[in-house]
Amino acid sequence: MSQPISSAIPFKFQNNYIKFEPPGLFDFLKWRWNALVDGHPKSAQSPTPKVDTDLVFIHDNGKASDKMQPAITWIGHATALVQFSGLNMLTDPIFSERASPISSIGPKRAQPPAIALKDLPHIDLVLISHNHYDHLDESSVRSLASQPGGSPLFLVPAGVKSWFISLGISNVVELMWWQSHRAQSPKGSVEIVFTPVQHWSGRTLTDRMDTLWGGFAVFADDFHFFHVGDTSYSPDFQDIAKRFADRQPDHGFDLVLIPIGAYAPRWFMKDQHVDPAESVQIHKDLRARKSVAYHWGTFSLSDEALDDPPVALAAARQEHDISESAFVAISIGQTLKLPVRTAH
Ligand code: ZN
Ligand code: ZN
Repeated sequence: MSQPISSAIPFKFQNNYIKFEPPGLFDFLKWRWNALVDGHPKSAQSPTPKVDTDLVFIHDNGKASDKMQPAITWIGHATALVQFSGLNMLTDPIFSERASPISSIGPKRAQPPAIALKDLPHIDLVLISHNHYDHLDESSVRSLASQPGGSPLFLVPAGVKSWFISLGISNVVELMWWQSHRAQSPKGSVEIVFTPVQHWSGRTLTDRMDTLWGGFAVFADDFHFFHVGDTSYSPDFQDIAKRFADRQPDHGFDLVLIPIGAYAPRWFMKDQHVDPAESVQIHKDLRARKSVAYHWGTFSLSDEALDDPPVALAAARQEHDISESAFVAISIGQTLKLPVRTAH
């Protein structure tokens, strides 16, 4: 994929396996009308599970650069703190009350973020999968950029850097699919590769597909991690596994964060978001040692109830004979400590 020489035709990014047209006004209104008539989304039977965060562990682990234990803490939605190789990394940080361009309207969070911005350890790296409001939040990005000790490095899809520059934030690297960036860690260097997934981008009605979207594969000596972001199901995941097979002869990623929410109704969502059965297929395609579910239970973005996704995930796991511990829906605030990667 390359930029056209002439700017007469505006450049738009596109998926590898389907030509995605962002939903038009007619389909959007049909979805909203049907949801209104059918009473979707139904209220959740129970609130999204939330536990007190172990801030002592997180901060101690964050300081122990030479013996940091790989760990993931779910903060809510697609936001997670991932600790490995002496680095503190955030995925798609949103700490705001709403996922919206306007602070008084739009999807409101059902649970507060598990960790307040001020209680985070010093963040070294931030991965932004795409520019939808529930993944790229201006107020959270501004706060992180002004954290004590200096801005983290933001890794973003091609075309998104100019948005950061417009906020006065310059510690940003933008990547095309399969481009990589090497970041220094206290334990050496970490390679981060931006990969295709099947989704779309846009923050207004006029900038759709202007910037790229994707997943991030992160390779450290002691930890291989994948942040899927938003995706529908496509052969891209088999391509990713094939691409990295040489460096993962024994098993695939040690940890994969996979979205399981915002999938109903399928006629409207299937080219944008996976359902939990497809999430399990991604887990298998990437040969994940452990997958953790995210992108559910925080913002109501679709027709399923907020607490439906883990129930559908459990059914899909059973069908594929996958254990709960291999693909787990953890509580907001929960920390999972993971083994150091030994096989290469
Ligand atoms: Zn999205
Ligand atoms: Zn999303």
